[in-house]
Amino acid sequence: MTDIRELDRAYVAPTYNRFPVVIESGKGSVVIDDAGKEYIDMGSGIAVTSFGIADEEWASAVSAQLLRVQHTSNLYYTAPCAELARELCTRTGLKKVFFSNSGAEANECAIKAARKYAAEKKGAEYYTIVTLENSFHGRTLTTLAATGQTHYHELFRPLTPGFVHTPANDAEALIATARAHKAAGIMLECVQGEGGVNRLDPDFVTRVAAFAKEEDIVLIIDEVQTGNGRTGELYAFMHYGITPDVVTTAKGLGGGLPIGATMLGEKVESVFSYGDHGSTFGGNPVAAAGALNILSRIDERMLLEVREKSAYIFGRLSGAEGIRSVSGMGLMIGVETEKSASDVVRGCMERGVLVLTAKAKVRLLPALNIPYDVLEKAIDVILSVCAE
Ligand SMILES: *Cc1c(COP(=O)(O)O)cnc(C)c1O
Repeated sequence: MTDIRELDRAYVAPTYNRFPVVIESGKGSVVIDDAGKEYIDMGSGIAVTSFGIADEEWASAVSAQLLRVQHTSNLYYTAPCAELARELCTRTGLKKVFFSNSGAEANECAIKAARKYAAEKKGAEYYTIVTLENSFHGRTLTTLAATGQTHYHELFRPLTPGFVHTPANDAEALIATARAHKAAGIMLECVQGEGGVNRLDPDFVTRVAAFAKEEDIVLIIDEVQTGNGRTGELYAFMHYGITPDVVTTAKGLGGGLPIGATMLGEKVESVFSYGDHGSTFGGNPVAAAGALNILSRIDERMLLEVREKSAYIFGRLSGAEGIRSVSGMGLMIGVETEKSASDVVRGCMERGVLVLTAKAKVRLLPALNIPYDVLEKAIDVILSVCAE
């Protein structure tokens, strides 16, 4: 039998430096490789499998829709798409939703909304989007331009023009830049995920939100990673008491199927008209049926559970041997270790725990419903790998 690793290396474009593990199956927070070895999954496919692997409730919602109708195109109405949009709006206070298939596409739509709003309201020279240094907004040429990490930009220039980056938590710098560039929009992650699991200061976020409101600039919160219960609120902006104009999400919303959502608030709810934007797969009824199931289970009880598990992880890891600091919010946690993050990943993998990295940190993104006994075992392994 052909080795899957070799087959993949022979035919899949080498954009990913994969770990040497072939995952064949799983259940909940445990995945199993091709040799039958079990691993506790502390990464959830990068915050995607919100309720774990092969979750039965989600799978039956998805398969029921799959056998009803799997795709219609956006020329026709389907119930899952309309119901998911209602659910997102009633639970966030935003007014309209555009569906796509990924985080990058959700952000592209947000950028188009901000640009169209500003062009119509203030003039064509108002097109710049201000984002933060160290941010991550996606890999398309436009969302790369939005991403405030130049190492992703090299070799792909020219990127889409009209993006500037300012330091996180420096409201005065952001405001000055936004004014100087005639900003159409400001885009922020409340907790920078790929940038190292750093949460933004509440003072900074509220100051920027107030400024955006005063100057009629579209405030976009990128909740691709932080959304859908991950931080202990349905969306991370809810921790900050702000009212964004646009909220984007993807990853955990689909529970494992591709979906992106761009939620438009009052300011921009009518910005798009027929033909302004579109997607063949966006709002696909199977992905939407899965997302409806995921959202229905992220209730107050589940959010409380996320906050409790977060406190448990912070409590056990903070100040432990070999651990310098713990950052993040909810079940989106960054761990600064004395060993290199890649050594911790390797050590944990040998002992049957899958963890991720973000910049120089170890990153934990377990399923929201990871059972306590499984979580406890994973933390035991992480602690012992960091201490040795
Ligand atoms: C993952 C991520 C994206 C990109 O999402 P894709 O689905 O990979 O396109 C955008 N923004 C943030 C904050 C992310 O974490």
